[in-house]
Amino acid sequence: MYVYPDMAGQFHCRMCGACCRREWLVTVDEAAYNRNRRLFAAQGKLAEFNQAFQKLKGPTSPGEYACISKDAAGACWFLEADSLCRLHRLAGHEHLDSVCQTYPRYPMNSSRGTEITLCFSCPAVLDLVERTAPLQFLRVDEPPLKVGEDFVEHIFPRQKRKTDPLFYYFEIEQHFIDLLQCRSLSLTDRIVLLETTVAKISAAGGEDTLGQRLNGIFAENWRMLDQTGDFPPAAKVTAEIMTEHYLVNVVFKKIFYTYGLSTGLRILKKFHRFIRLSAVGAENNLAGARKAVAELEFRLGHQRSSLGKL
Ligand code: SF4
Repeated sequence: MYVYPDMAGQFHCRMCGACCRREWLVTVDEAAYNRNRRLFAAQGKLAEFNQAFQKLKGPTSPGEYACISKDAAGACWFLEADSLCRLHRLAGHEHLDSVCQTYPRYPMNSSRGTEITLCFSCPAVLDLVERTAPLQFLRVDEPPLKVGEDFVEHIFPRQKRKTDPLFYYFEIEQHFIDLLQCRSLSLTDRIVLLETTVAKISAAGGEDTLGQRLNGIFAENWRMLDQTGDFPPAAKVTAEIMTEHYLVNVVFKKIFYTYGLSTGLRILKKFHRFIRLSAVGAENNLAGARKAVAELEFRLGHQRSSLGKL
């Protein structure tokens, strides 16, 4: 089974090279380092290899052995003037390290199957989500796009204790996405409702009747939302709609599973505030929101420690 937001099935890389010009470091594992060493040695270019691949010093994360150097303009060493990758040209897609093969795909391994979404730091993805319709989540037998087995997250809620709210993670995720997409309320009010809901769920944690309590909490929210009435379809994409898509995608990326309910909520509120302030300050609200979303996504993927300073 594959679970993904509908936009993931519409993605096509434009080969614009924007991701290769970002300030992030592309790290490679030892196998990729040695694979490239053999490739360059066979071509008599070991001197270039030693410049292009720098072994990492000090404590690193698992799988990080070396990084690819930048050129004088700060772009990836292998980015060519036509925005294509020289390594890709030389040795093919399968030769690339897993980050370059996967980005902007975000594959996750869960008890539901393979879940896939996209990173909003890619301009082609941002264009895909510049739309009025809410993101829709699909479950199908065929993958929407090619992904490997390098999963970013592993989500198996039933391995938690039955009294831990995260045992019911998928039910909670679906409800949080429903709340964030309920446009009869302003996005700020939806987040307030999410906050109240997280508080109620956390308070119910530790009880044997947690499953029933959750059903009650969800039903109470739906009763309240039913009274807010229908909402007409949006006429144009606004900064608020772009923010909604982004926050929904962040929830789908399992931020509440990885960090827990309280921290997940804190991160989501920070993101909402950051985008709102950036959009208000910009001349064009939607352009401001797009820029802020791309910035947050970059930090979420590559500079998580900097999120605390938002
Ligand atoms: S930024 Fe996106 S569209 Fe551009 S090359 Fe990278 S993945 Fe492809």
